[in-house]
Amino acid sequence: MEVEYVLVGFGLAGLAFATVLEEQQKSFVVFEDASQTSSNVAGGVYNPVVLKRFTPVWQAKSQLEVALPFYQKWEEKLGKTYDHKFDTYRIFSAIEEQNNWFLAADKPLLSPYMDSKVIWETYPGLKSKYGFGKLQHTGRIDTKSLLSDCKTYFESQQVMRYESFDYEALDLSSGEVTYKDIKAKRVVFCEGYGMHQNPFFKHLPMQEVKGELLTIQAPLLEVDFLVKAAVFLLPLGNHYYKVGATFHWKDKSLATTEAGKKELQNKLASFMTVPYTIVEQSAGIRPTVKDRRPLLGVHPKHTQLALFNGLGTRGVMIAPKMAQELYQHLSEGTPLEEEIDLRRFSNKGESQA
Ligand SMILES: Cc1cc2nc3c(=O)[nH]c(=O)nc-3n(C[C@H](O)[C@H](O)[C@H](O)COP(=O)(O)OP(=O)(O)OC[C@H]3O[C@@H](n4cnc5c(N)ncnc54)[C@H](O)[C@@H]3O)c2cc1C
Repeated sequence: MEVEYVLVGFGLAGLAFATVLEEQQKSFVVFEDASQTSSNVAGGVYNPVVLKRFTPVWQAKSQLEVALPFYQKWEEKLGKTYDHKFDTYRIFSAIEEQNNWFLAADKPLLSPYMDSKVIWETYPGLKSKYGFGKLQHTGRIDTKSLLSDCKTYFESQQVMRYESFDYEALDLSSGEVTYKDIKAKRVVFCEGYGMHQNPFFKHLPMQEVKGELLTIQAPLLEVDFLVKAAVFLLPLGNHYYKVGATFHWKDKSLATTEAGKKELQNKLASFMTVPYTIVEQSAGIRPTVKDRRPLLGVHPKHTQLALFNGLGTRGVMIAPKMAQELYQHLSEGTPLEEEIDLRRFSNKGESQA
């Protein structure tokens, strides 16, 4: 079988790149082995403001300009809703935070999103002594449903192969790519934290962060906006909410933990007062890079191998734009911005592969 591209991994990165390839009418095959869960468990939130410091997210405006139409196209194509738009309410913990909010809401980059008034409305079940700051144009992509439906779609195009990509079986001697029965021009690795097993790219400095989330049912809580306090409380409808997420740098397993559950419950108790039941706990590893920027580009020696990784904590917003930039780079030779190009780490030693 001859194709132009082989993709390894079908999380948000793999989906975004496969979408570009389909639009460009390029042939491809996707390998996916369910070894990572990040894109499937993600809260799926997109939000252009860093809610700890009230600063703009890196390239938020231009990312959203690509990301929102990207998800809308899939909605139209598959006849489903994946983009659930809502406001985000930040619970202030002190007067000082309100003041910081006012200052930030005045800034040109933030004013389209941040409502400059304090919201004093009360909501049964939520503690809000100092009121809320309201953020507009935020929402949640239902990444789990989107990925599942897109897999079904690409299965119908006969491009999905549900197996682990075996790096040892890769033959690069011809200058192109031979992999088992496949001849291709390029391989694009979209493996998330799976990159740590990839002999061609595992030297790159990923500082992956495990995250855990709870899904709860709280029959007495009635909010249709995202609440951000010690953790986020994200409305799923019918009194179901996601609560998350934890950040753990040492544990690299995908297992859910009692400690993660307790941490989330304690943080939730700091601002939510109504009873709830836990219906699910999930965990994943965010592919975060040391400098918090994506990792894109080609291998320095084997230029037929490319990497699409480093989406960190914000894959929903970042992936569609980065997929376009990587494609332009691979197909037209358009240079990648220095801050996302994996060559920024080239002086840190290359892999032996
Ligand atoms: C708890 C938690 C909450 C999060 N919340 C949000 C949020 O609210 N908003 C947001 O934007 N982001 C969020 N994120 C981050 C987001 O999930 C990531 O940025 C994004 O999912 C990364 O996508 P990816 O495709 O690069 O990696 P992954 O999702 O890890 O996908 C990689 C894929 O490659 C496959 N794979 C790996 N190696 C191989 C191999 N050798 N062969 C075949 N297949 C392979 C894996 O099975 C996997 O499907 C969250 C993450 C976590 C863990």
